[in-house]
Amino acid sequence: MEIKAAVVFETGGEFRIEQLELTDPNDDEVLVRIVGAGICHTDLAGRDHHLPIPGPPSVFGHEGAGVVEKVGARVTKVKPGDHVVLCWDCCGVCTSCKSGKDSYCLNFFLHNFHGARPDGTATLRKGDQVIHGSFLGQSSFADFALANERSVVKVRDDVPLEILAPMGCGVMTGAGAVMNSLRPRPGSSIAVFGVGNVGMSAVLAAAVVGCTTIIGVDVHPDRLEMAREFGATHTVNAAEVDPVEAIRDITGGGADFSLECVGNPKVLRQAVDALPRCGVCGLVGVVPPGTEVSLDMDLLMNGRTVTGIIEGDAVPDLFIPRLVELYSQGRFPFDRMITFYPFDEIGQAVKDMEEGRVLKPVLRP
Ligand SMILES: [Zn+2]
Ligand SMILES: [Zn+2]
Repeated sequence: MEIKAAVVFETGGEFRIEQLELTDPNDDEVLVRIVGAGICHTDLAGRDHHLPIPGPPSVFGHEGAGVVEKVGARVTKVKPGDHVVLCWDCCGVCTSCKSGKDSYCLNFFLHNFHGARPDGTATLRKGDQVIHGSFLGQSSFADFALANERSVVKVRDDVPLEILAPMGCGVMTGAGAVMNSLRPRPGSSIAVFGVGNVGMSAVLAAAVVGCTTIIGVDVHPDRLEMAREFGATHTVNAAEVDPVEAIRDITGGGADFSLECVGNPKVLRQAVDALPRCGVCGLVGVVPPGTEVSLDMDLLMNGRTVTGIIEGDAVPDLFIPRLVELYSQGRFPFDRMITFYPFDEIGQAVKDMEEGRVLKPVLRP
């Protein structure tokens, strides 16, 4: 079928809206009419070819939400008309997948960064030219996207669908890091380093699970102010003061939990140094392979833990409906991070995100 998609034709180039040809769903695939597509830093990493993906031309987008249009012959999970959020794809059969740790799938690259289906077949074409698709199992910068039924999460249909787009990555990553990975007890303290959309989702989640000291750390005063509105009890401007000292002062010795959402060795060091004995630091900020960090081994010896977390350790089919439920009860107002853009203003949306003017741009194809 003919679709409209945002194509990147050269590394680091613009997103150009083009008419493309999308193949029919295979037996295990779902065709989704996209109503909201969040933009995440991983899309820009793809545009700039900082990921192990084939070269351009490519269609990115991995925070899609939409309505099921058509399903393959063997699909049982959803039916046409269902509201769905799209997530990454996984193989479903490796040891990670079988342990309920889909985001650590041993075949993650094949299923998400291959530019095509895992079997190598292309889904997108412009005339005779193959356009790389299946980005993180979807390529949802388009009005229609194909996904394996594994990547499709059914959601209730009484919640505005377009706001649910960032549930598929950014919101799930931040909220899941707190609710699934760190699991702070009520009354705990937590310091969130970097309150972009992922960190802000973590702040919201920390409030939901009953953390009583929630410290937002950033260098942008407007973000820190927003973190307070989202439930941070304290904020620290790391451009003005030493965040480790500030956190020790606020908590009387260190935050029980910390979360690094920046992807910076210096910030990870601070997030570990800000822990008390037996504290836990989660790392969600993405860095290029080979990035090293120096840590005080004696500090670690005293019961401290550092753990890497991908996609919030979530099983999306279980976790996303829970977040939607919390949202509908008014306890998880993540939608306040969203700025909507018409699809053909994707260039402006990307610019606004890169220049820090918006937390979470969502396109409406
Ligand atoms: Zn797997
Ligand atoms: Zn993402």
